[in-house]
Amino acid sequence: MHRATIVVASNSIVLTPPTEQLKLVMDQHRTIIEPFKIKSVEPLTIMSRAERAPLLHKAGYNLFALSAEHVTFDFLTDSGTTAMSANQWAAMMVADESYAGSRSFAKFERVVRALTGHQFVIPTHQGRAAERLLCEALVKPGMKVPSNNHFDTTRANIEFAGGEAVDLVIAEGRDPTSQHPFKGNIDLAGLDAFLAANREVVPFGMMTLTNNTGGGQPASLENIRAVAALYKKHRVAFIIDACRFAENAYFIKLREDSQRDRSVREIAQEVFSLADGCYMSAKKDALVNIGGFIALHNKEWIESLRALLILTEGFPTYGGLAARDLEAMAVGLEEVLDEQYLSYRLAVSRYMAEGCNRIGIPTVQPAGGHAVYIDAKRFLPHIPPHEFPGQSLVCELYLAEGIRSCEIGSAMFGKFAAGSFVPAQMELVRLAFPRRVYTQSHFDYILEGLAELVARKGSLRGMRLTYDPPLLRHFTATFEPL
Ligand SMILES: *Cc1c(COP(=O)(O)O)cnc(C)c1O
Repeated sequence: MHRATIVVASNSIVLTPPTEQLKLVMDQHRTIIEPFKIKSVEPLTIMSRAERAPLLHKAGYNLFALSAEHVTFDFLTDSGTTAMSANQWAAMMVADESYAGSRSFAKFERVVRALTGHQFVIPTHQGRAAERLLCEALVKPGMKVPSNNHFDTTRANIEFAGGEAVDLVIAEGRDPTSQHPFKGNIDLAGLDAFLAANREVVPFGMMTLTNNTGGGQPASLENIRAVAALYKKHRVAFIIDACRFAENAYFIKLREDSQRDRSVREIAQEVFSLADGCYMSAKKDALVNIGGFIALHNKEWIESLRALLILTEGFPTYGGLAARDLEAMAVGLEEVLDEQYLSYRLAVSRYMAEGCNRIGIPTVQPAGGHAVYIDAKRFLPHIPPHEFPGQSLVCELYLAEGIRSCEIGSAMFGKFAAGSFVPAQMELVRLAFPRRVYTQSHFDYILEGLAELVARKGSLRGMRLTYDPPLLRHFTATFEPL
């Protein structure tokens, strides 16, 4: 029987019951452990606050300018930061690096076809290369592409082609306090009305799974089915941005009662089958460090996509990648469907969000799949938006704990207009978790340090911009503490 108190074992992920995961646990354990053991290790940089302070100063208080070797916990992104498995490394060693018709491509193509059900598979070097091909081939000036929320690179590629990226996420998806289980859902009435009014200028419709921009929030199978039916009704092709398809499928299994008895693979396969095609940044749920692909159901668009691919990426059987990358993706796309892995994966962000909330750090609710978003506006109410509370917290997380996180607030999106400052809608700090990289003791160590930070949060000061570049401020801006 379960004990009433929960022991936090080292190297394990403990969920505070009652949780949706518990419904699925087959044996007597409440603890969700990392479902792997470690064969190859990398040293972790451990430094003191006094050692970090001059490095942060030299970086202009912008963590993008830090050298990664001075970071202890790198939560800048979950993209391309996965630890690969022994099986992935083994597959890379037997890759066939032939320019054309490589055996490794055939294997990759088999795996993608079996998963997505789509016949035509185009490898690309990462997600945005897939987006560029689709947008260059299909989006013309004045066109509009609907989705729940478009990811930054998707929006940028649509806009670069002269189109407009239209976000139609449900209202709960815009509310950081809403506990809605599927905040990545599309507003169906909104989509129907949008398509009725714009159908002639919609080259294809999209859905991002999970909804990255909204905090890694999933969409339900019920909603995806209804979205697919609407696209069909209006005769618009449906393309899924499938970066985190496996995390989304596991959320469906956990949260959608009718889906509890299906395997994640079956759920994922049904999701893919509802669309006319998909593309993916393999740097997320294919568990690799580089790669991506487009998969399509019919060949209408294939010729123009392949022509563009050859122009800038490479021959259609490698698409800008080495064959060993295709091998690693083929193995990763299978490994990611392991439900032990997914149970652990979703437990990480949940554990960190619950841990933060318990010690008084507010986060976007509920925890998403790949990241925790701290609400810096609520956490540091004494720092006004024009003094960048998120950036102040990002800097303190580095000084105190060696954490590299990412501000998603006024430092990234705030605008200076006619002498006044227009802040971003929210002041968030994102901790994105690399897959299979950090362990429970790392997360417990971080939470201990955060508890100490909470006690002295009143002493944190705002920041002032000292260099404001013309484009994409967050990458190269510099700051100083007030
Ligand atoms: C990362 C990401 C992309 C872009 O992929 P890259 O591999 O970084 O080019 C597109 N969409 C979503 C939802 C993503 O998370």
